[in-house]
Amino acid sequence: MMQFSSSLLENAVNEFAKLPGIGKKTALRLVLHLLKQDASFSQGFGETIIKMRKEIKFCQRCFNVADADICSICANSMRRQDLICVVENIRDVIAIESTQQYSGTYHVLGGIISPLDGIGPDQLTIEQLISRIQKENIQEIIFALNPNIQGDTTIYYIQKKIQPASVKITTIARGIAFGGELEYADEMTLARSITNRLPVESYMTK
Ligand SMILES: [Zn+2]
Repeated sequence: MMQFSSSLLENAVNEFAKLPGIGKKTALRLVLHLLKQDASFSQGFGETIIKMRKEIKFCQRCFNVADADICSICANSMRRQDLICVVENIRDVIAIESTQQYSGTYHVLGGIISPLDGIGPDQLTIEQLISRIQKENIQEIIFALNPNIQGDTTIYYIQKKIQPASVKITTIARGIAFGGELEYADEMTLARSITNRLPVESYMTK
């Protein structure tokens, strides 16, 4: 057990240690670093986090994080607004944006269909995606979900729902290992898999 002579220090260490991947030793190192800096550094650090948590919004159209009701990607008329890339979470949006190879919009599902984890279609933003496809003049839906059972189940479910609509449905190419995490794929592989996307029909029967 780490012994502290200051409960103020101990509390700060405990807060940092609540973060994923941060153990007590690392937490102590970070807190001691803060102590070495000018007080204004900690002030700014704390304020940035509080402001982010309080003021962050989710785009009403695509459910990406945003500073306003509509995110900067949906609001950008230079991007193809008739193209939707369907992703599981915000980290996937950041990963794909980092490739600088995609200029359409996104739709963040907020998870993936996984009956074993008790996650059904109703807990995701699938209804909102369907209504976007119906209301907006969407040309193509690109699924960029992790290539595993849950990803395939989710694609299958959504594909069934949107079948009557005349929209092209594709999925990113499998440059990523089966069960691999999209967010950890290197940018080149991810960029290539978006460029070499495949129609969902041929991919589903493989
Ligand atoms: Zn948006």
